[in-house]
Amino acid sequence: MVELTLLRSGNRLADPQQQVALLEEDQRTPGFRSVLASHGCNTLQASGISILQINVGKVCNQTCSHCHVDAGPDRRESMSVQVADACLSLLQSANIATLDITGGAPEMNPHFRRLVASARALGCRVIDRCNLTILVAAGFTDLPEFLAEQKVEIVASLPCYLEANVDKQRGDRVFQRSLEALRRLNALGYGLSDSPLKLTLVYNPTGYSLPPSQQKLEEDYRRELRSRYGIEFTQLFTITNMPISRFLSDLYEHGQYDGYMQKLVDAFNPATIDGLMCRSMLSVDWQGNLFDCDFNQMLELGVTNLRSTNILDLTDGMIDGLRHRTIVTGKHCFGCTAGAGSSCSGSLQ
Ligand code: SF4
Ligand code: SF4
Repeated sequence: MVELTLLRSGNRLADPQQQVALLEEDQRTPGFRSVLASHGCNTLQASGISILQINVGKVCNQTCSHCHVDAGPDRRESMSVQVADACLSLLQSANIATLDITGGAPEMNPHFRRLVASARALGCRVIDRCNLTILVAAGFTDLPEFLAEQKVEIVASLPCYLEANVDKQRGDRVFQRSLEALRRLNALGYGLSDSPLKLTLVYNPTGYSLPPSQQKLEEDYRRELRSRYGIEFTQLFTITNMPISRFLSDLYEHGQYDGYMQKLVDAFNPATIDGLMCRSMLSVDWQGNLFDCDFNQMLELGVTNLRSTNILDLTDGMIDGLRHRTIVTGKHCFGCTAGAGSSCSGSLQ
């Protein structure tokens, strides 16, 4: 067993290979592939690419305790203009409908606005995975207007409607700054029932449990945010905390790893397999490397079966191979198949 001490290097989680080794050497948790096979799914195959999700870097103005990217203000990894342009070319050549931009705080990448405007000009739907507080941070306060002008969909983390819970997971004063950002977005029309500007909130558990029913929690969020703060939003996504990166370390530190993995395995739901997000998305990291999803990206489990795994080397002839690739899986994947399932678009059922 890889010890927790190996997972840390200073205050940062150590390399992804150690995380993969820890998960794979865990004898108590069954193999994800064997569980899939027992439900008649011998290989997990992609069924096209409808979403290009690009992680433009690890720079962030926050350092949340559950962050699977291990992002923060001291990170320097940031997508170059060459890689950003290659992403735009792929959107066009592979006729991909949606560009989903994540980070870090994606807005802190110097090419963020260019990426958004260019993708919109191509006719793509654009999603900004926003932490909200960046919208009220010095140097970024004109972002809400830019996003509204470009009709960008905002998917924003707000793990609770209670201040103490949000600040515990995301840092001091994050809740109050998030409310300030939400009020600005509402004032521009984001999240209002008769507006085309979509504002999705994202819930993930603050502890070691699975998310509750998305529909029921959305009703609670709507009632509480409206009555307490006058905030409106379009919809709520619930997302399961994945046993990787900072959350994996947290599970170990608090003696919760075995219990959490058992919880995920016990809640395996075969009905989630068809809708797993890796089947319809391609994920790109800040350096242009290709992955099946953002979680595999964090574990550095790159796409397979291809001559090249970097977007800078892609040719049009390789796109079909990407559309029908075999997905790389591991024990972390139990996070996507537990209960109602989990994806970047919320629960799968
Ligand atoms: S805001 Fe998002 S990317 Fe930034 S530290 Fe928090 S979870 Fe990570
Ligand atoms: S972590 Fe989830 S989305 Fe990623 S490969 Fe595994 S099942 Fe698919």
